[in-house]
Amino acid sequence: MSLDPKDWNAFRKSAHAMLDASLDKMEASREGPVWKPVTETLAKSIREPLPAGPMDYADITQTLESLMPYGPGNIHPRFFGWVNGAGAPSNILAEIAGASMNVNAGSRNHVAPHIEQQVIRWMAEVMGMPKETSGLVVTGTSMATIVALKAARDFHQKKHENTNPDACMVGYASEQAHSCIGRAFDMLGICKDNLRKIPCNENFEMDIEALKAEIEKDRAFCHIPFAIIGSAGTVNTGAIDNLNAIADICEAQDLWFHVDGAFGATAILAKQAKERLSALSRVDSLAFDFHKWWQVNYDAGCVLIRDPLIHRQAFARRPEYLRGKERGLAGGDFWAVDYGPELSRGFRALKVWTHIKAHGIDAITDVVERNISQAQYLESLVNASPELEMLAPVPLNICCFRYKFDTGMNSKNNEIVLRLQENGIAAPSTTTLGEDLAIRVNITNHRTEQSDLDILVKAIIDIGGTLSSVNKA
Ligand SMILES: *Cc1c(COP(=O)(O)O)cnc(C)c1O
Repeated sequence: MSLDPKDWNAFRKSAHAMLDASLDKMEASREGPVWKPVTETLAKSIREPLPAGPMDYADITQTLESLMPYGPGNIHPRFFGWVNGAGAPSNILAEIAGASMNVNAGSRNHVAPHIEQQVIRWMAEVMGMPKETSGLVVTGTSMATIVALKAARDFHQKKHENTNPDACMVGYASEQAHSCIGRAFDMLGICKDNLRKIPCNENFEMDIEALKAEIEKDRAFCHIPFAIIGSAGTVNTGAIDNLNAIADICEAQDLWFHVDGAFGATAILAKQAKERLSALSRVDSLAFDFHKWWQVNYDAGCVLIRDPLIHRQAFARRPEYLRGKERGLAGGDFWAVDYGPELSRGFRALKVWTHIKAHGIDAITDVVERNISQAQYLESLVNASPELEMLAPVPLNICCFRYKFDTGMNSKNNEIVLRLQENGIAAPSTTTLGEDLAIRVNITNHRTEQSDLDILVKAIIDIGGTLSSVNKA
């Protein structure tokens, strides 16, 4: 007996009900608390024995609906934590179409490679990279980084195959760079310690002189410098490294220039950041996310690699059972398996492609520009409030600040953030800058309005006031 519905009409009814419930949720994204914890009852009901028999589709729909209030809250306009995108209803169309096709986008001759390659062509254009730029739509920047750095490592390893086999490959990133880079080094067998963490200047950007000195030191020890990883938007403060200076060093010293632009690369669309990101046109590889500032639903990221041959050489090793053919289903020039570690993979590119077609690049640009302006507005609110102080510059869309307490500065600011989250008013996160715990507000949210920032600041001042007076009593 197949797993298809016995009664398609009943299934159709449940599917329509599910769609309506999903649309209701999206339409009401501003309503209710930003976040609420999973109830004990719900958690308990999930821990049930392995089901042996079927559940009615009407019941399935109801059960799914009962889970929907307990997401992380990032669809709400006052979700400001970490770097999360808000997603968009347009994605639901692509997800439905994709689910009905059940595409394996790893190989062979069907519509998925055409859509995926078109997304890559569009992204090369957005980032100012050459037409032939190669790439994949992947789960996220973590995976994109692994793919890019594998290409970089293989290319440079081959170049140095006749030098001392004990010499180690080393790469460079700022001490503010994301942990996924160290993890990629680890997974590629390069060894985490061989990622040199370069100190930053007062703007949390990589110190270029320190970088040069570190490379020289490594060369003196006969190590093999192979890559510099620039950050276009650090996760703590949104700092953008001096990418042109890094590109110059890479060019002069024959090093691979990779950029982590998880959210920040998207700001190349925005008038406020275009100029500072112009060096993205010079990268050897770039990793960034669609599920952050592009507002595509989770998960979707992108890796772009300037030289298609280097990209292909890092992954293309097909055994006999995966051999392509001149014609038929096993035909087609582009098999994603030749460009990344996965064979079977979902049709993520479909929701990215649909999203871009549904909104157009101008609407995405508008979101990014507005979010940057909103971060600047928040900075002005903080500066205008005697109770608050800024802890870092605001180069992009992230604002780090705190409430000024006489004592217990870090723990009380931490408490403010916990209470904001638990009361469901807003969901910023925290980070540590030097010794200071900061309330960290990241705005990658097309639903956020200026009034949401007013609500946030008022709530912080209220909670801060309560915590201050408790101390004084
Ligand atoms: C989010 C983020 C990453 C990791 O990306 P994922 O999509 O979560 O894998 C890397 N670098 C920066 C700067 C980020 O913000």
